[in-house]
Amino acid sequence: MTNDNVDIIIRGAGLSGISLLLALTEQGYSGNVLVVEKRAKPETQKTWCFWGEQNISSSLHHLIKRRWFSWSFSNGRQEYHHCTQSNEHAYCCLQAEDFYRYAFDKLKGLPTIEWLWNTDSELINSVDANAHADTHADTQASANSVELALNGRRVSASFGFDSACGISLPEGNTINQYFVGAWVKTSTHSFNAKKAALMSNMTADESCFEFTYILPFDADYALIELTRFSMRDESLADMQSACEKIVNNGDYGNDVVIEKWEKGVLSMDTRIAPVKVGNWNCIGARGSMIRASSGYAFLTIQRWAEKTAQSLCSENKLSLAKPISPLYSALDSLFLKVMRKNMALSPTLFNAMAKNVGADVFARFMTESATFSDVLSIIKAMPIRPFVKALFTPEH
Ligand SMILES: Cc1cc2nc3c(=O)[nH]c(=O)nc-3n(C[C@H](O)[C@H](O)[C@H](O)COP(=O)(O)OP(=O)(O)OC[C@H]3O[C@@H](n4cnc5c(N)ncnc54)[C@H](O)[C@@H]3O)c2cc1C
Repeated sequence: MTNDNVDIIIRGAGLSGISLLLALTEQGYSGNVLVVEKRAKPETQKTWCFWGEQNISSSLHHLIKRRWFSWSFSNGRQEYHHCTQSNEHAYCCLQAEDFYRYAFDKLKGLPTIEWLWNTDSELINSVDANAHADTHADTQASANSVELALNGRRVSASFGFDSACGISLPEGNTINQYFVGAWVKTSTHSFNAKKAALMSNMTADESCFEFTYILPFDADYALIELTRFSMRDESLADMQSACEKIVNNGDYGNDVVIEKWEKGVLSMDTRIAPVKVGNWNCIGARGSMIRASSGYAFLTIQRWAEKTAQSLCSENKLSLAKPISPLYSALDSLFLKVMRKNMALSPTLFNAMAKNVGADVFARFMTESATFSDVLSIIKAMPIRPFVKALFTPEH
């Protein structure tokens, strides 16, 4: 076994790992970085959406494939539309394959980065606070040191970031978000490319809330996604068949073709805790960077990557800022508790939000940039009884 030392180890070359690497590179980080990924190449069947392009680094703006200034919610009987005039609140989307292509073009060949693809690794739980450090920054770095075992090598680093960490689930019900999306090409002009359907055909029973999400990229090309927020175990294979039916029974003409699929399962619970091994920093969706009430993580990850790169570049230490502010975690936690207690109420909750809150307020709330009065109007938009009840009753 050989022993090596680098400045940073990143475990997982997915969104969070690569975003950190990009931010470090853009900010001129000069240390050595080892990237270890278990796959042979990145997972590109993903579409990342978020509100407000100003919320991501300007170097990524050219990757935004589409912006929608209008989006809708419906439960079959009522339909509510949000429209914004402002670029700052537009719903933006970029595709994983474009993101990774851009990132690897930028990062390939850099002598300070070592890439290990297709590699299994094991985190070593050793805390080695090095007493020889002279400066405060050195002490910080050594107090955070990590170790990784792989391919007969043992690598230590001043900082370690793990996007593959385990998670511990709370007792009792938790909600998972299951989704299966079909990339659909039609021979007719079937979609209004100016409007995204965030939640259409919302229905719910006591354990599952279901809706269809439609992102029209062109009049004849869209992502049609069946989504379930569910306390049951859902089968993605069954959901794929159900999504196929939605596509085939929809008003999209006879020659509709499904070109590819994207799918996933995300935990929606503020009580889920990442299982930290030694000094390893859990990052990404498994590291509490996911907005529990929605499953959105892209912006949180971008914000975290920028801040972390700044503190590593300027002071060789970690940023202490929480990825998601406690206010939003508390609001999400209550909202999800209401859903767990009364899942069938979910369409009413989302419709109330859509009806009583404007597009710009909604977009700011979703991006954690709401003002005090925005937060008040979101709270006011909700039916009061289930929230008061959830506040004052225990979980089980
Ligand atoms: C299909 C899909 C669509 C999504 N759409 C949106 C969206 O529109 N907006 C939004 O905000 N969020 C979205 N999300 C949520 C979130 O942004 C993504 O899940 C995002 O990819 C999370 O980044 P990550 O780094 O945590 O995980 P990943 O991007 O999955 O990266 C983790 C990496 O770690 C690797 N890995 C796993 N185990 C090991 C191991 N033992 N050793 C080494 N490497 C390992 C994996 O192979 C992977 O490459 C979506 C998620 C999915 C699945």
